[in-house]
Amino acid sequence: MKQNIYDYTLKELEEMFSPSFRAKQIYHWLYVRYEQDFAKMDNLPKSLKQELLENFQVQNLSLITKQVSIDGSQKYLFRTHDGLSFESVFIKMRDKKLDENGKVLEGEKYTFCLSSQVGCKVGCAFCSTAKGGFVRNLSAGEIVEQVVQLKKDNGLAPEKRVNLVYMGMGEPLDNFANVTKAIRIIAELEGLSISTRRQTISTSGIAPKIKQLGELGLGVQLAISLHAVDDALRTRLIPMNKAYNIEQVLDAVRSFPVDLRKRVMFEYLVIKGVNDDLQSAKKLLKLLNGIRAKVNLISFNPHQESEFERPDEQKVKEFADFLIQKGLLCTIRESKGIDISAACGQLREEEKKFHMKHLREG
Ligand code: SAH
Ligand code: SF4
Repeated sequence: MKQNIYDYTLKELEEMFSPSFRAKQIYHWLYVRYEQDFAKMDNLPKSLKQELLENFQVQNLSLITKQVSIDGSQKYLFRTHDGLSFESVFIKMRDKKLDENGKVLEGEKYTFCLSSQVGCKVGCAFCSTAKGGFVRNLSAGEIVEQVVQLKKDNGLAPEKRVNLVYMGMGEPLDNFANVTKAIRIIAELEGLSISTRRQTISTSGIAPKIKQLGELGLGVQLAISLHAVDDALRTRLIPMNKAYNIEQVLDAVRSFPVDLRKRVMFEYLVIKGVNDDLQSAKKLLKLLNGIRAKVNLISFNPHQESEFERPDEQKVKEFADFLIQKGLLCTIRESKGIDISAACGQLREEEKKFHMKHLREG
């Protein structure tokens, strides 16, 4: 079987091809020109192109569908070489900056939400990815290719800044080796050159892996899916809390190196009547005392497989206002792509149902 070319660091390619500058040329084609056909890599010698064609595959993910939201975000459903599907989300947000004369410059900010696994082992009660169980880890190359395809499909210039969040399907720290390799490949200056500081790993809280990630010193940003302030509720929502409880997760966070200008993000999924009360906000404030934290409130996005309900907007606002008043940085996540169910795993579930329906009809 041919190897996925996106699986390799620049150093690995340099060791495979001589003279080694060929590796840089290949990287340039792959990550600056988004070329997915070896035959078109003009400055490579014919023999090298032949070798690449025989042994490597450039396009490993095929696009099944793309849904475009009225707010401009887009959800991509990809198929892997072994017939599995997973999704990535392209989010466009308005960005305002001041120039040196204090004039407001309106720009656009791009964030790509990447998947790290097909399915997930963690089994959170509110998450539709969890319902399908775990299928397999994505390879480093399959993670990297999501970025290439999203940049290419949207015609983003190579130098256009994008932020990456590992918040699609799967638990990134449960696929530690491949995710950290992908982060390094994506940060390579000769390639996509997306700094590790623009890459955020979101985890449901595998405490020892958070420590391990910190020890690697990659410079990535950390987001913790906290969602609850007491262990009983957190275990109900995230069963893994039994193995690593809130205190253990927070201990791991305290050991994580954070840039002076940055903070650890705590994601808090607000669910109606479950964790949307001010008492929880008070407890959250106490728990995060002493941590350079920012809180991101996410309103639960209802889907067919779940018993939970979306909270009242007013309640979420009160929750946020309380934290802000007490000096904690807190934002409410904009519901980007809500009309296309751009939360964790929902498109894939729809596709599966569609498929089943056709199988039954056929
Ligand atoms: N496994 C990692 C990253 C992927 S999940 C983690 O759990 O952090 C990314 C985010 O999507 C999590 O914060 C999760 O809480 C959120 N999410 C999952 N299902 C959701 C839903 N139905 N509505 C809103 N957010 C959801
Ligand atoms: Fe897995 Fe994250 Fe979904 Fe939990 S929320 S099941 S950890 S993908």
